[in-house]
Amino acid sequence: MKTVLLVLLLSLPFVVPAHERAAEPAAAGSTLASYQQARAVLARAIEVAGGEAAIRRLRNVSLGYTGHRNMINQSRRAFPPWDREPASGSVVVDLEGERMFADNYTSYPGIGRFGGAWALKGDRGVHWEPDRNHHGSEIMMNFSGKDADGPWAFIPRWIPPLMLVDAWDGGTNLRSLGRAVRNGKPMHALVWTQRDGATITMLFDTASGAFSGYESIHDDGVYGDVINCIEYSGWRAIDGVYFPTRRTDWFNDEIARDLELRYRVDAALADSQFELPSGYAQPKETETGERLREIGDGVYLDTHMGGIMIVEFDDFLAVVECPGNYSMSHSTIAAVREAFPGKPVRYVVPSHTHGDHGGGARAYFHAGATLVTTPGHVEFYRRLARVSRTISPDPYDATKTSPSIETFRDKWVISDGSQTMVLYDIGPNAHSEELTMVHLPRQGIVWQADVYFSPGTGGGVNPAMPIGIDFAKKLKSLGIDDFQALLEAHNTRIVTMEEFRRALALAGFRGY
Ligand SMILES: [Zn+2]
Ligand SMILES: [Zn+2]
Repeated sequence: MKTVLLVLLLSLPFVVPAHERAAEPAAAGSTLASYQQARAVLARAIEVAGGEAAIRRLRNVSLGYTGHRNMINQSRRAFPPWDREPASGSVVVDLEGERMFADNYTSYPGIGRFGGAWALKGDRGVHWEPDRNHHGSEIMMNFSGKDADGPWAFIPRWIPPLMLVDAWDGGTNLRSLGRAVRNGKPMHALVWTQRDGATITMLFDTASGAFSGYESIHDDGVYGDVINCIEYSGWRAIDGVYFPTRRTDWFNDEIARDLELRYRVDAALADSQFELPSGYAQPKETETGERLREIGDGVYLDTHMGGIMIVEFDDFLAVVECPGNYSMSHSTIAAVREAFPGKPVRYVVPSHTHGDHGGGARAYFHAGATLVTTPGHVEFYRRLARVSRTISPDPYDATKTSPSIETFRDKWVISDGSQTMVLYDIGPNAHSEELTMVHLPRQGIVWQADVYFSPGTGGGVNPAMPIGIDFAKKLKSLGIDDFQALLEAHNTRIVTMEEFRRALALAGFRGY
């Protein structure tokens, strides 16, 4: 599930009101005519941006950005109005030396800042987590060869004049879609496939000829089909090349992020800007052991999916957490069916409504499981059951099988005499108004999501955040004075009570 949070951190949502989205059909009569029309639109935009010569003269470009993210499906409430949180980052490209650096951060309600950084020289590089609060001290990804296209594609997406010349240099993978209207303005729309394979729609103001932004589409586990739109504005010339001072990201009809952009060109660059900071290690060989790891009597973790917990009862199974989307959760269900033939998954218990915890619920509805949640989250899961998914269709159809949802307040016990699993609502807290935690009293296991984080690699202990201290107090008030293992939704690390106490003590709390 590392990937899940990573995707959330990196997916930088965007759009345009639906009523303004009606595009006229493409005007070009042939593929070649469509390409030629696109070239003409692009040539004009390059001229308006300062001209090809001025753009190609750039030796390096640095961008710093700050602003806010509207926390769509990552807020304390399951529905709008969303919480607003700070967002920031930077992008540096050394065009002469073929080097790049990027970092990107978002704060999440109650749990602070998370982010990632990338550094590449040519087609080699690394991706790591500067704050080490989630992944820890292992390098998250190494790039070589074609893998490097992914991070290199950030450069044109964040530096519009470079997108224009990149598209110009991109061979025949450019087409005109004809005229479109965005935010009430007539636009010319071009389709361009970038070096990492992503296809985007570039938009150009038909009046001025200027580039205004780009759109893409993706599937979201919670919302289904999504249009992302990035809108650049407030253009200013630096050394004869026009750069925007604002970027607005839309996610369907909502503003997802609003940023102020500060560009510099041809600055003096230090080698250290493109290097991995010290203290990071290469990832250990991934274990090839069994997918479901038994961590207590009848208790398993799905090691491919972070901290998904499976609890085995005499006649059925309960799965804690259904992150991501249909296919991720379906993969857990398939692994569980293989390991426990004939034992149905009777319950699925998502901790809360954030996509990295509940986005896969449809797979469980399809499998006939009952989703157990708190009253304030029922409508969220009902809507998720009805969402339309044409980009990534799945077999679940809520009109044929209505979702089975069971609710509880405060506490709910699932027991068959030999196995006992206790659910508690530990909300409201700084992260979510309602949040389900799981206690397995016989095994001494506490499972939680997003109230306490330990680095997934390196064995370190970070100071507990205020929400972690509140969680410790909550455990005490529930009579859970000790435990053998503390599990978390986002990785497979098992935290001991001693480590938990150390994290609390580092934050000055000694009451647990
Ligand atoms: Zn969350
Ligand atoms: Zn989370």
